[in-house]
Amino acid sequence: MAEVLTIQEEELQLIEAAYKDMVESIKSEMEELDLQNIRKAYELALEAHQTQRRKSGEPYIFHPIAVATIAAAEIGLGPTAIISALLHDVVEDTEVTLGEIREIFGNRISKIVDGLTKLDSAYNAESPQAENFKKVLSTLVDDVRVALIKMADRLHNMRTLGSMPRHKQLKIAAETSYIYAPLAHRLGLYAFKTEFLDLCMKVTDPTNYHGIAKKLAETKRSRESYIDEFIQPLRDELDELKVPYRIIGRPKSIYSIYNKIKNKQVPFEEIYDLFAVRIILDVRSEREKMICWQTYSIVTDVHVPIPERLKDWISTPKSNGYESLHTTVIGPSGRYVEVQIRTERMNEIAERGFAAHWKYKGVSRQPDVYERWLDNVREILDDPNSDAVEFLGDFRANNLFNEEVFVFTPKGDMKILPKGATALDFAFNIHTDIGYHCTAIKVNNRLVPMGYKLKNGDQISITTNRSQKPSESWLKMVITGKARSKIRYAMKDEQRKKGELGKEALERKFKHLKVDFEESVEKLVKHLRLPSHVELYYRIATGLTSIPEIFKKFQVMGNKLIEIEYQKETEIEELPTKAPTPRKGTKKSDNTPRLLINGEPGDRFDYTFANCCNPVQGDHIFAYLTATAGLKIHRSTCPNAANLMSNYGYRVMKADWMATTNNTFVADLKITGIDDGPGVIERLSHEISNKLSLNIRSFSISGYEGYFKGKISLLVANTDQLNIAIRALKNLDSISTVSRVE
Ligand code: MN
Repeated sequence: MAEVLTIQEEELQLIEAAYKDMVESIKSEMEELDLQNIRKAYELALEAHQTQRRKSGEPYIFHPIAVATIAAAEIGLGPTAIISALLHDVVEDTEVTLGEIREIFGNRISKIVDGLTKLDSAYNAESPQAENFKKVLSTLVDDVRVALIKMADRLHNMRTLGSMPRHKQLKIAAETSYIYAPLAHRLGLYAFKTEFLDLCMKVTDPTNYHGIAKKLAETKRSRESYIDEFIQPLRDELDELKVPYRIIGRPKSIYSIYNKIKNKQVPFEEIYDLFAVRIILDVRSEREKMICWQTYSIVTDVHVPIPERLKDWISTPKSNGYESLHTTVIGPSGRYVEVQIRTERMNEIAERGFAAHWKYKGVSRQPDVYERWLDNVREILDDPNSDAVEFLGDFRANNLFNEEVFVFTPKGDMKILPKGATALDFAFNIHTDIGYHCTAIKVNNRLVPMGYKLKNGDQISITTNRSQKPSESWLKMVITGKARSKIRYAMKDEQRKKGELGKEALERKFKHLKVDFEESVEKLVKHLRLPSHVELYYRIATGLTSIPEIFKKFQVMGNKLIEIEYQKETEIEELPTKAPTPRKGTKKSDNTPRLLINGEPGDRFDYTFANCCNPVQGDHIFAYLTATAGLKIHRSTCPNAANLMSNYGYRVMKADWMATTNNTFVADLKITGIDDGPGVIERLSHEISNKLSLNIRSFSISGYEGYFKGKISLLVANTDQLNIAIRALKNLDSISTVSRVE
């Protein structure tokens, strides 16, 4: 063990100062006793963590203080949450027990700390992250403060990610963008979501991140003077309203600017709405709507609006509670400017979401969006059948992104389902039995297929028949977690019933061979890589697997079933649980690009380049240990990366390019432009082959209505060469866009 560094006197002063700042940032009202308890929690944490330091070298206590500060200042949480935040790592990392916390601070706080500890230990034990997330949600329905403090904890860890090793950075960033950012969105913590995505981009795509950050800094002054010019005439008019207000003009996030550049295929210089102007009015709730629309009227009198960009989330708030009036107007010099109009209350909900929601309960006209959502979360958590990864997929699809669709029963009762839900989802939503036995569905009196996508206002009636049963294909026709899990359950049950015959056949065989039943079944299931015993019985019963076929690979010794050795290598494949050991002696041919994997020369591992994202030398990359194909190298911006790292983060390894080599890499380019006949193809291939001297691996092009879309696979040495090629192709006549396939 390293030498124990206790806290130095100067450090203690800094810690004390950080603590004082934290206390000052508390917004909620407090009694003397609350302050005393917060102090007590701080002193307990300080003592408990006194010998620990963070990766950056600073005393550990700075972390819980920072998490408490975020909880207080940025989410606006009160004393209970602040005490819990200060203590959130104490049980996990120090001698202090949960019992002691309960004794000093009571039951509520010890429960929250317990929730946070369980989340952390799940993560540290490197269990699949999906499992971890399921835990986040179960604590969330119990006490939402656990999830909110977890958000604060994650935000501080993301802000201080720089001192972590690179592969951990990638893993944490992936998990953050896959789970925490959408959850922040769902909880209405917009500022968190935005910062999460920016910090993730900083890790996965540092080149573009720093490029945009630099340009934003360079254009700061001219942007600020433009905003002043835009706002001044508005102020004169708004003053007439005699309502207190403030106007903020601030740049959009780097992540959202980058998305615009990517999606619209324009350079930074051509993105005009780099910032949004927000007008926040301080009015009583009865006058909110009227004053907001008056403000809209003032804004559009001064600057010409673009009608189709008007969004009214005041009359119909978003499903996460967001309320605001958005419009885009044409400002000075013809530039587009987005203007957001809202009240202080709406602004607080927009920034603090869930946490602010409780404060205004009953004030807003909107239905209780969070309670409805929590009910939904409880329902899918209650489902004992889904495994964590399935669950996470369902959850993301249904609960984090989608808005809702409102439909009606024949009696006129309104039902709310996630957008994209089908008629069959509706049947399961009404009742599990109605779903199971559903034979025909009418929407607005017309017969529709079961997979019909519901529209707002649809009226739906279901016909059932007792002999109807769910089938595998139904899974493709539903999107809600409830319907999916009920269908899966029915399938498993069906399989179990059918499997009885298979089980009997196996029992006879084993009895005949005089081997132990349980143990031998276990072996067969493992050997055939089946998910369960039931699956094995089912396969035998339906003839998918035959008993004689299986027993070719086994022999009986004593009363045991033994696998015949030589078959083993090709047949058995287990999920790897640890990194492969480097091979000795063998060297890869010189064609293999050289990588460092977890700091070791990569030619000692089996690796290949993933063809979902085709990394090119110079890209930011990572290695992923697959179940069957060794290590795959992906770009850190690969669309699959977040999913892989979030669900199987423990299989992610660090990968770096070693020295430059003479290898070539496949890079796919998307090209669009004006179709002027065969000339285009000729120009493109001339430019690539003759001028750039690059090899084309494949080339496809299709035209429509005077435009064309093409895809070219090139062989390039590195990202520099690729970027030169992209620039050169863009400059050709009649080419509109050239971009690398993500
Ligand atoms: Mn922590």
